[in-house]
Amino acid sequence: MNKPSPFLVIENLCVAYQNNIVLSDCSFALQKGEILSLLGPSGCGKSTLLKAITGLTAIKHGVIRLDEKTLSSDDINVAPAKRGIGMIFQDYALFPHLTVKENILFGLRDKQQKIGADEKLKKTLSLFKLEELQTRYPHQLSGGQQQRVAIARSLICEPNVLLFDEPFSNLDTQIRNDLMKEIKQLLRSQNMTAIFVTHNKAEAFAMADKVAVMDGGKIVQFDSPKALYDRPVSTDVANFLGSGVSIIGKESTNQNDGTKGWQTDLGFITSEQLTAGSIWSDNLSKDNQSTIYLRPHQITLEAETPNNSHPITGISFQGDFQEYTVQLPSQSIKVLSIERFNIGDKVSINLHL
Ligand code: ADP
Repeated sequence: MNKPSPFLVIENLCVAYQNNIVLSDCSFALQKGEILSLLGPSGCGKSTLLKAITGLTAIKHGVIRLDEKTLSSDDINVAPAKRGIGMIFQDYALFPHLTVKENILFGLRDKQQKIGADEKLKKTLSLFKLEELQTRYPHQLSGGQQQRVAIARSLICEPNVLLFDEPFSNLDTQIRNDLMKEIKQLLRSQNMTAIFVTHNKAEAFAMADKVAVMDGGKIVQFDSPKALYDRPVSTDVANFLGSGVSIIGKESTNQNDGTKGWQTDLGFITSEQLTAGSIWSDNLSKDNQSTIYLRPHQITLEAETPNNSHPITGISFQGDFQEYTVQLPSQSIKVLSIERFNIGDKVSINLHL
């Protein structure tokens, strides 16, 4: 069977404020029902990309297509209200003088949408478990409940796509985790295509089928969360995505069996091992050195064994685990471990490649 054509297509998108280009050459495509997280540091252009998709910000070049209809291009600019795109903001943007029910009904703007309003309201209140709260005002709701009302208000008019601008950042951790699960299930049940903006890696990974990592107005990698974590395209992406351990490797050939790989302070690592699971920078410097990235689960510390023991020179207490600084012959590395060691203890290092 042929793969269906993508539902939301962004092609070579470029956005500038005055003459300052803040998004350049952004392209990606989503299938119907897919959830995307836009992940990147503050100022990299995430909100601008959302605003361009809603039509709130004009584009300089490129194409935005939804369900095979062009919304933005060099000569087309469909008005925001006609795009069928719902947007949910960080601060919920509820009307303080309207009840939950009235806030949700406000989502039904035009005559067409208002047809069957009672039925739509009933279904939405039930979907979001807001029946009991429908007569309350926003100030009588928790942050999580307010955010559910804001999402309900966007969903009631049956948009094609929902866009979320840092929707969980005002909520504390427990509520955020619960709400994320609830919203993800809800989007799935409606086969809703959605884009979340976040600068929080855990949030991006938990919510999304695809993640676009952005930096300096560009999408530097677009992939599934697992593929991103296992195969970041660059050192910057590897570092941004999480606590890795970088060790220096010198390109060499194993004299016993001719296997090609890298000689490191932690022993010989073959090219095959690297492509099978570790992460490495392929920019070899002049003396054939490379930086090899390992994820925390690939490196463990063990109490001293007769061979290969390295001193602990620093400890940072982090609750469930500790970050240890371990001195190797030619560099020091930081390794996470649940084991308890003291400064001066010698440890051996196991790699799981
Ligand atoms: P993010 O959402 O990733 O934090 P933004 O999309 O808000 O980033 O901003 C991207 C860049 O565009 C930043 O350098 C920001 O200062 C600039 N910018 C955002 N909005 C405007 C605006 N209305 N006018 C001029 N520059 C803007």
